[in-house]
Amino acid sequence: MSDFEQVRPTPFSCPACGGRMVFDPASQRLKCPYCGALKPFQAERETPNEYDIRFAPPLEDQAWDDQTRVARCESCKAEFVLTGETVLKTCPYCGSAAMAEEQSGPGIAPENLIPFQLTRKQAQEKFGQWLKGHIFVSRAVKKEAVRDSIAGVYQPRWTYVDDAESKYMGRTGRHYDLKIPYTVTDRDGKERTETRTEQGTRWETVSGQINERLENVMTEGSDRIPGELFDAVQPYHMSRLTRYVPEYIAGFACEKPNVDVQENWKKAQGIVDRRMAALAEREILALADEAQVQSVQTSHYDVRYKLTLLPIYLCTFMYRKKPRHVLINGQTGRVSGYAPISPLRVGAAVLIVLLLLGGLVWRFLATGGSEYMFNDLGGRLRMLL
Ligand SMILES: [Zn+2]
Ligand SMILES: [Zn+2]
Repeated sequence: MSDFEQVRPTPFSCPACGGRMVFDPASQRLKCPYCGALKPFQAERETPNEYDIRFAPPLEDQAWDDQTRVARCESCKAEFVLTGETVLKTCPYCGSAAMAEEQSGPGIAPENLIPFQLTRKQAQEKFGQWLKGHIFVSRAVKKEAVRDSIAGVYQPRWTYVDDAESKYMGRTGRHYDLKIPYTVTDRDGKERTETRTEQGTRWETVSGQINERLENVMTEGSDRIPGELFDAVQPYHMSRLTRYVPEYIAGFACEKPNVDVQENWKKAQGIVDRRMAALAEREILALADEAQVQSVQTSHYDVRYKLTLLPIYLCTFMYRKKPRHVLINGQTGRVSGYAPISPLRVGAAVLIVLLLLGGLVWRFLATGGSEYMFNDLGGRLRMLL
C-alpha cells in the first residue's frame, strides 16, 4: 500500500486545481473556493417523483445515495445530510462544535428544491441591515453578526399532492330592497307616511360538490425552527422549484427530517380542508350576493408525497442559555428572528429623553411665562439640541 492515497476525481473536483467545488448561488454553478473556477452542471429536466403515502417508509428506511453522509450534533441531536465533500464544523442550530459522523443512513432523498440564490455575503449584509433597524437589540446579537456565524441550511418540507373531493352544505344570500314605512310630522303638525329603502337578504339552502387536485401542499419536515419564525420569512417563489441534483447542496447542509411523513399528512389535511372550504365559499358566492358555508366534508384520494428542500441562512446565538435564531430566506433575503432587547440600551434612550425634557422645563422656568414658552417652543428646542 502506498503512503499516498490516490485522490479519485469526483463530479465536485475542480478541473483546474483539483479542489472541492461548492454550489455558488451567484452563478448557479459549482465554484472552486481555492482558484475561483466555475463549472456548470446539468439540472435534470424530468418532473420529480411522487410516492404513495400509504406505503411511505419510516424516516430511516430509504437510502438517499452513497455520496451523502450524516453529521449529528451531540448537543441538540440535529442531523444533517451532507455531500461527501462538505464538512460541518459547528451545529447551525445550537452552535456546538460537538459534531459527529452518524452511522444511520441519510433517509428519504429529496425530489426537488429551491436553490440558494443569496450568497453567504449577501445574507450577512441582509442580517446587518436588519440589526440596524433594531436599535435596542442586545450587544450579544450584534457581536454575533460580526462573528461570522451564518450557515446555509436547506430545510426539509413534506410536500403532498391530493385529489380532494368536498361535499358542502351552505346558504346563498340574495339581496333585495326592503321598503320600510315611517311617519314624519311636517311644520303644520300634520303626519304623513314615507318609505325608506333598506337592504334585505333572502337566504336559501344550497349544497354541492367540488373536486380539486391540490399540488404543493407543504408542511415542515423538521420541528427545530418554530413554525411562526419560518412563516415570517415566507414566501418563496415556487416557480423556481427545480429537480434535486447533488450539486445544489455541495457546500451546504440539509437538515434530515425529524417529522414523520405519514404523521404530518394529518396536518396537511387541515391545510387542504381550509382550502376546500374557501373554494366552497367562492362557489356559493358565485350564485348569490352572500355566502354561508355550513359544512364541508372532504375525502382525500391518491395522496402522494415528496421531500422538498427550501434554502435558509441561519444565525444562531446564545441568549440566557438558550439558542436563538435569526432566519434569512436564502432565495429572497427576507429576515426575521428573535431580537432580544437590551434593558441598558432602552434605559440609556429613556435617560436622554428625560434629560432633554428636564432641560426644556428648566429653560421654561428660567424665561418664565407659558405664552412665551409656547410661542417660542421651536426656538427653545433648537437651543437645547
Ligand atoms: Zn480550483
Ligand atoms: Zn446542535
